Amino acid sequence: MLDVKGQFIGGREVDGDEAPEIAYNPTTGEELTSLASASREQVDDAVAAARGAYGAWSRMAPKERSQRMLRIADKVEQMADEFARLEMENCGKPIGTAKAVDVGNTVDVFRFFAGAARTVAGIPAGEYRPGFTSMLRRDPLGVCVGIAPWNYPLMMASWKIAPVIAAGNTVVLKPSEHTPLTALKLAEVCAEFLPEGVVNVVTGNGPNVGARLVSHPDVSMVSLTGDVSTGRKIMEAVAPTIKRTHFELGGKAPVIVLEDADIDAAVEAIAEGGYYNAGQDCTAACRVYAHARIYDRLVAQLQDAVGKIALGDPSDPGTALGPLITARQRDRVDGFVARALADTPAEIVTGGRAPDRSGFFYEPTLIAGARHHDEIVQKEVFGPVVSVTRFDEDSQVLDWANDCEYGLASSVWTRDVGKAAEFASRLEYGVTWINTHSVNVTEMPHGGVKLSGYGSDLSVYCLEHYTVTRHVMIKH
Ligand code: NAD
Repeated sequence: MLDVKGQFIGGREVDGDEAPEIAYNPTTGEELTSLASASREQVDDAVAAARGAYGAWSRMAPKERSQRMLRIADKVEQMADEFARLEMENCGKPIGTAKAVDVGNTVDVFRFFAGAARTVAGIPAGEYRPGFTSMLRRDPLGVCVGIAPWNYPLMMASWKIAPVIAAGNTVVLKPSEHTPLTALKLAEVCAEFLPEGVVNVVTGNGPNVGARLVSHPDVSMVSLTGDVSTGRKIMEAVAPTIKRTHFELGGKAPVIVLEDADIDAAVEAIAEGGYYNAGQDCTAACRVYAHARIYDRLVAQLQDAVGKIALGDPSDPGTALGPLITARQRDRVDGFVARALADTPAEIVTGGRAPDRSGFFYEPTLIAGARHHDEIVQKEVFGPVVSVTRFDEDSQVLDWANDCEYGLASSVWTRDVGKAAEFASRLEYGVTWINTHSVNVTEMPHGGVKLSGYGSDLSVYCLEHYTVTRHVMIKH
């Protein structure tokens, strides 16, 4: 078992004072470590530490904040193997992608926001009333709380920390109770380069520790990446103290394959983007709509490609698909698949069960013949399951794609640039990819509409969420 303490408060590791949460190794199903949760007093201590650090940090020259963040990025990069191994053990991520994507993105996010810290500005001053000069300041908010999910623990920690501190705020992060380890390690690295109290981490579950943290009166803002139901609870919890919120919730990405699409390219992207991170991805290419004229070919090619996805031990460099995060999540996925087949024309093309081995694995699964209103097409499964639905008319598929409670990610596959532009303009999603899927860049915002939430992570636009515009007027 790993020897880790459960909190990072005021620049120091401390043991939690309340009941422990167990983190598992999903590859073996065995206990990895058990961390005592933060008590009410420890949540107060973390917020007080962040509040105490705020004055000096918010007034520090952006250039100096930036230099410290660059050093954090360098240190994480140097420790890439250690971070990747920890992420693999706690999440079951294939080791190669844990290093290249999860650690690589974290380094990039710290570097990007280190630069962005130096660009935060209001508009230049002007006289909007004769004899008065108005200027607009863009100032930090105070203590921000980040609440992170289990699917990308290190990346989500960096998304919830880097822009927040770049803008001059201080932060208390609560990682998922299932995956706290890399966030704690990141806090340790941050403590090397930041004044104490700028970054704090408390651990424990949502209903106790998370709920206490978000409703704390000294917290100015809450940023959540998580489930829609959690977003609702947090909205209610912050109502008495009127806090700003920022929600990245679920998704159910439509992948629209038009008649003229490059089928080989679409198949390759779906076999990658539908099953990446074992499908535990809010932008997963999971809801495929295929034109009737190419439907059979697409399903046949997908059957072949999905059947070849290498499920196995994530420490093996050849593995593409590791386990799901918990036994509960695996069983939830299995329930979706069973219901998809009951009394419907849908059928399993490949996969459809948990393999006979230890750990929380589920076979890469392709379901064909699903109808637009079926649960498997409408609800977020968050597992390695992709459905394919046949359509006849472009106008019909556009309506179907938008007829969904989520609005995070979408993609369109066509060789016709006019059609691509038309679909992109009419799809109600935070991102629309044309002839690709799930390709993210730190420079562009990541966020959704409808039940997928509001506000965006990444890009300079997200700094607007972590700052407030203030008017200063000078009488001549
Ligand atoms: P979850 O909502 O169960 O948990 C997320 C976090 O919220 C955890 O840290 C949890 O402890 C905390 N939490 C739960 N109840 C709380 C409460 N009452 N008060 C405060 N905190 C509380 O989500 P999950 O199961 O960890 O992650 C999966 C979900 O996250 C999926 O629905 C997925 O779509 C979503 N997600 C969205 C994005 C995005 O960018 N839109 C990215 C990744 C994951």
